[in-house]
Amino acid sequence: MSQNIYPMGGQYEEYLTDESKYSGYADSISFPETSGEAAEILKELSDRKVSITIQGAKTGIVGAAIPKGGHILNLSHMNQVLDSWMEEDGTGRISVQPGINLIDLRKEINNLFRKNPQFWPVDPTETSASVGGIAASGAQGISRILYGKSEQYIESVSIMNYRGQTIKLRRGENRELSDTEQVDALELVLGKEGTTGIITELTLKLVPKPEAVWGIAFFFEEEGEAAKFVDDLKTGMPESGSAAIAAVEYIDRISLDLIESRKASMTKIKELPDIRPEVAAMIYTEIHGAEEGIEEIAEQLMETAMERGSDSEEAWAVSEEAEIEKLHVFRHAAAETVNLFIEEQHRVDGRITKLGMDMLSEGTFADVLEAFAEELAAAGLKGCIFGHAMENHLHVNILPETYEEYCRGVELVRRWALRIKNEQGALIGEHGVGKLKREILGDLLPDEYIEKCKKAKELFDAEDMLNRGNILEASY
Ligand SMILES: Cc1cc2nc3c(=O)[nH]c(=O)nc-3n(C[C@H](O)[C@H](O)[C@H](O)COP(=O)(O)OP(=O)(O)OC[C@H]3O[C@@H](n4cnc5c(N)ncnc54)[C@H](O)[C@@H]3O)c2cc1C
Repeated sequence: MSQNIYPMGGQYEEYLTDESKYSGYADSISFPETSGEAAEILKELSDRKVSITIQGAKTGIVGAAIPKGGHILNLSHMNQVLDSWMEEDGTGRISVQPGINLIDLRKEINNLFRKNPQFWPVDPTETSASVGGIAASGAQGISRILYGKSEQYIESVSIMNYRGQTIKLRRGENRELSDTEQVDALELVLGKEGTTGIITELTLKLVPKPEAVWGIAFFFEEEGEAAKFVDDLKTGMPESGSAAIAAVEYIDRISLDLIESRKASMTKIKELPDIRPEVAAMIYTEIHGAEEGIEEIAEQLMETAMERGSDSEEAWAVSEEAEIEKLHVFRHAAAETVNLFIEEQHRVDGRITKLGMDMLSEGTFADVLEAFAEELAAAGLKGCIFGHAMENHLHVNILPETYEEYCRGVELVRRWALRIKNEQGALIGEHGVGKLKREILGDLLPDEYIEKCKKAKELFDAEDMLNRGNILEASY
């Protein structure tokens, strides 16, 4: 065995689980630093017919990076910037290895584009996530309503197959998915959860940094009024010529309680004011653009929020970068504290894993929210609700205290999935399917989506040696 391939041992235990607490097993692991090293490792493993599970930063929440045997190819050491340049239209480009995480990527972009400040608008809130993992899992995040889908900001990728051979795929190139179907080349890789190949390099499209960013968090004593505030925005989004709303994020009281209970240990947010017990929900909004336009939109937002009973004196309104970051950390803590809760329950009963919704419902926000709250109560389950309000893209997380509650939670999530499917909503949001959701929701996933994933897999990994069991049933 090559000296870069290590037999699994206790020191690598952490690589057998991700943020979902789904767990697995493997025989060996490697940490290549370059494409050349990765190719060498693959050549050796493919000669021995060993299956591979690809890992980025393991922050995924559907068990997609978790092996069920074989070898773990962990790409966290492939984390360098390879090139950067400006295009004539004033937008930047950066080529990176896949293991670079969002924190380092942002630092590098700030350093490399001092003259024409740029940023990568993809923000799935988890800043330790790797760019390769984000691309493979189809992660989106909080500013999608302004900037659009994350795929738009990936211009090309190099992918390596099981035998260590690499090809480059560029946006705009067509590829045959079957005799009758052509797709954009990048569709064969982005969001395919590593089932079609190993991303070894990415060129990211950047955009000029907005002149200013404001974050405003509104607090509501009535959950229903908070929801109607969102519906007000849906019917009449505040506008100005030089700024726009980039994020509208909903956080319910149970999520706020989870955050408050851990706030003291979270350095970046421990100094934020406590939230009054009467508050039933918080809505975080973010505005990007020119200062003047932002002020115009902020005024309209304040007015609408006040009409829905939110006290403008109580709102948190910030514009300094460091203060905005605190509000991002606060919003992110809604997801993080659920994962910490699950981690504790998983320690008591290893069968308990994350059980969260990542689906887009149809209807008004108020109706969608009410339905989830009622169904949780009817099932006698505790759950918290947060997420991307403008698209009804809510993350409803079941908070089970026993395995029996977990099982009831699975039933409820399946009922929700069926309802959303019947209403023509979207069952696959931004976290991917991985192994965990395939096990829970596999039979409900849209046939057309599964067919596309199968065809893409057949094109690049017909032997099913890469990321077996993600999205598709393992073929062994
Ligand atoms: C607290 C919390 C909050 C989150 N909030 C959001 C959110 O708001 N929106 C959102 O979209 N996501 C969210 N996420 C999930 C986030 O999207 C994922 O964590 C991230 O996309 C995965 O990146 P990773 O590097 O950790 O990948 P991993 O977890 O290591 O892997 C994820 C998948 O990508 C594959 N993969 C990784 N690298 C490569 C590569 N180079 N080539 C091919 N395949 C690869 C893996 O095999 C696996 O299938 C959240 C996660 C956490 C923990």
